[in-house]
Amino acid sequence: MKHFAIAIDGPAGAGKSTIAKMIAKKLNIIYVDTGAMYRAVALYCINRGINCRDKESVEKILDQINIKILYIDNAQRILLNNEDVTDRIRTQEISQGASDVATLQAVRIKMVELQRNLAQNASVVMDGRDIGTHVLPNASLKIFLTASVEERANRRYKELIQNGIDCSLSKIKEEIEVRDKNDSCREFSPLRKAEDAIEIDTTGKTIEEVVNIIISLIPKQFDSINNN
Ligand code: C5P
Repeated sequence: MKHFAIAIDGPAGAGKSTIAKMIAKKLNIIYVDTGAMYRAVALYCINRGINCRDKESVEKILDQINIKILYIDNAQRILLNNEDVTDRIRTQEISQGASDVATLQAVRIKMVELQRNLAQNASVVMDGRDIGTHVLPNASLKIFLTASVEERANRRYKELIQNGIDCSLSKIKEEIEVRDKNDSCREFSPLRKAEDAIEIDTTGKTIEEVVNIIISLIPKQFDSINNN
């Protein structure tokens, strides 16, 4: 295999992005945050007053959406029609909207194409909900991260407060439960552990512990991976 890929899936707040970013840095490979792509689609819809669950309306405007991923100082930036929206897609409204547009097959087809292209051109650690099951079924290593709802809500709460976003812990817990249900029960590519994925429950574990576990699981033939 020319490139190496680590697929990390799991529910909202399981620690996927923090852990994936650290792994990417340690291994000097690219981190692909696929959730950001669904978030960018939701932002486009919300800005135009389109209901993110309205299949027909979303499908109608899908062609107007051009998403690009850039890497600046090793950090992913997401461009929506050439505008950098990286910092605008982290609100609770966009989280819910992303979970809604992600139920639509046409949206998923478009995002998955983009994601596979990225993995074809470089070694990646990619996080999402369907990476191991659908986007990269031949990934070199598949991880399924979980944590209790309480712990996930707590983490998301702290993250939002740190970013200066005002929120309530109980409301976040409720929203995480809604998203879990939405993501796990949808018809197309629901959140599911791939049969060959290794499940890690991150409850009570530090980020470093989880990163070290994942790195120790990398198959031997990739010991010297780089980004060529
Ligand atoms: O990971 P993040 O919370 O940013 O993802 C936002 C939403 O996008 C998720 O709740 C999920 O519905 C959707 N998503 C998805 N498939 C992915 C990544 C994210 O359906 N690969």
